[in-house]
This record gives sequence, C-alpha cells and structure tokens, in this order.
Amino acid sequence: AKMFGKNTVRLYQENAQTVQRKEELMLELELMRALQEEELSVAYQPKLDTKNQRVNLEVLARWHSPHLGTIPPGRFIPIAERSSLIEKVTEFVFTRVCEDQLLRPEAFGDSVTAVNVSANLFRKDLLKRLFVDTASSCKIPTSRFELEITEGMLMEDPEEGRRLVEYLRDEGFRVVIDDFGVSYSSLNYLAAFPLDGIKIDQSFIRKIDRNLNKKEYEIVSFIMQLAKRLNLSVTAEGVETEDQMQTLLDLQCEELQGYFLSRPVPIRQLKKAVAQVHAHLKEAESRLNGQL
Ligand code: C2E
Ligand code: MG
Ligand code: MG
Ligand code: MG
Repeated sequence: AKMFGKNTVRLYQENAQTVQRKEELMLELELMRALQEEELSVAYQPKLDTKNQRVNLEVLARWHSPHLGTIPPGRFIPIAERSSLIEKVTEFVFTRVCEDQLLRPEAFGDSVTAVNVSANLFRKDLLKRLFVDTASSCKIPTSRFELEITEGMLMEDPEEGRRLVEYLRDEGFRVVIDDFGVSYSSLNYLAAFPLDGIKIDQSFIRKIDRNLNKKEYEIVSFIMQLAKRLNLSVTAEGVETEDQMQTLLDLQCEELQGYFLSRPVPIRQLKKAVAQVHAHLKEAESRLNGQL
C-alpha cells in the first residue's frame, strides 16, 4: 500500500466501508422480506438444570433464505438491532415459542424457556406488548420463561434499566444476564439490577480445564461463589467436553448448556434431545451425591 500512497489507502478503506454498508442494507431489506415470507424459524437448545432436576431450554432464532442460504443470528440479529426489525424478530420468536408450547406440551414438560432480549427493546411499552401480553393471551404462566439480557446498553440508563428488570420480575418472568463477564462493567450489574441469575460467557467455559488454564478456572470458580453469595443462579454456556462438564459439576454449577449436552434443535427433534440430556442429568445427580 505504501507504494500507492496515503490516498489510495484511504480510498480503499472508504470502498470497503461502502461495500459493508451496502451489504448490511441489503440484508436488512432481505430480513424485512423474510419476516413476511416466513423464512425465520426457531431452534431449542436443552440445558441441564441440576438444581431443579429438570431440562430447561433456550430458544434461538434461525434464518434460512432460499437465495442467500443460512444466515447465522450472529450476523442478522445485530442488523435487526440497528433498525426496528428486532421488534418483529422478537415478536416472531416469542409467539412461536408460545404456539409450540400450546401445540406440543409433551416436548416442553415442566421446562423454563429462555428468550434473548436485545437491549434496545428495553422500553416498558415494548416489553409489555412483546412478552407480558403475548404470554397472557396464550394463557401460559410467565414463570415458564426466562428473559436473557446482554450486558451493554442497560448501563446507559441504570435507573430505567432497574425499573424494567423489576417490572419483568413483578410480571413473573425470570431475568438473567447473558454472556456474563465480557463487559467492562460486569460486576456493576450484580449490584445495580435485581436479577435472578447470570450466564457465564462461553469464552470462560471453553478454557476451564483445570490443569491447563488455572486462571480461567479460578475466575469461573470465583464468579460462582460470588453469585451464590448474592443468591443468583449460574448457567455455564458453551460446555463442549465431558471434562468441562465434570469440572462445572464439581464446582456445583446449577445449570449447564452446550454442544456436549445437546446442539440447538428444531421442535420436531426436541423430545429426543431432551431425553438425551435427561440421561446426563441422572449421571450428574449420582456424581453430585458422591456415588461416582
Ligand atoms: P447467546 O444468546 O449467547 O446464545 C448462545 C449461542 O451459543 C448460540 O448461538 C448457541 O447455538 C451457541 N452455543 C451453544 N452451545 C455451544 C457450544 O457448546 N459451543 C459453541 N461454540 N457454541 C454454542 P447462535 O444460535 O448462533 O446465536 C448467537 C447469538 O445470537 C446468541 O448468543 C444471541 O445473542 C443471538 N440470538 C439468537 N437468537 C436470538 C433472538 O431470538 N433474539 C435476540 N435478541 N438475539 C438472538
Ligand atoms: Mg442467550
Ligand atoms: Mg450467551
Ligand atoms: Mg453469546
């Protein structure tokens, strides 16, 4: 680049930015269309709940476009969040969960289903319409749901954030912080908001091997002790190996989620996936009882 001088570099950067902006705009328009054409769907990932001895779920949005192929949520959710499309996506996801629960109660059992809530949906009128009113019109108790909020925007207006978390909990939803530990103000959240629990970010769990990554192990162990003292539930996400699972069970982690237990699956495979995680639950119980 040096050979062509500063201007060429700047031109190139501007071009790259323009290309990216165009692509995002294109995806936004596609997503708008996809919502109408019903190209979105949901997947459920079972979680092993050692505390309540049941299998819980997290619902995850999926988008399969006939001409663009499968677009991961890590790509389309941030685009939806930058426009008001995130309202439509969330409305679709939560309504689908309620419908699935009504149509296939046997697949859900007594599980609690976690739903991801973007920070820019944190307005009372929106939360009421999207979650409180929808659950109520489907006659599903709000205690069957957990709302996962990511660290970030909540801190911009902590006073309002606290009121809204309170509102959701008064309405009967569980409220937890997702991807805990990656934001610079993580610990502040524990004091500022009346939460039910936290989900420790995958990046810590992936490195929890005791012998190789002493520091990550200590961090996770510390977060768990802290959470216990604050009366918060702890979920570990991104459990990919048996080793990680055993380490977490030894630390008395309440809830575990990850590919080792089950991948996210479409509703038609849910019953089978849940049964598989139940087998792990038995194993975990006997381990916790010191029988292994
Ligand atoms: P998240 O809420 O932290 O969800 C966990 C993500 O980790 C999911 O990715 C899940 O498939 C993946 N995962 C679960 N277990 C493992 C594991 O053992 N190893 C690895 N490597 N990954 C694992 P997914 O489905 O691609 O979703 C990515 C993110 O997109 C979610 O992260 C969430 O922030 C967002 N998202 C997904 N659906 C929705 C939605 O309906 N609304 C909102 N607002 N965000 C959503
Ligand atoms: Mg989540
Ligand atoms: Mg997460
Ligand atoms: Mg995540």
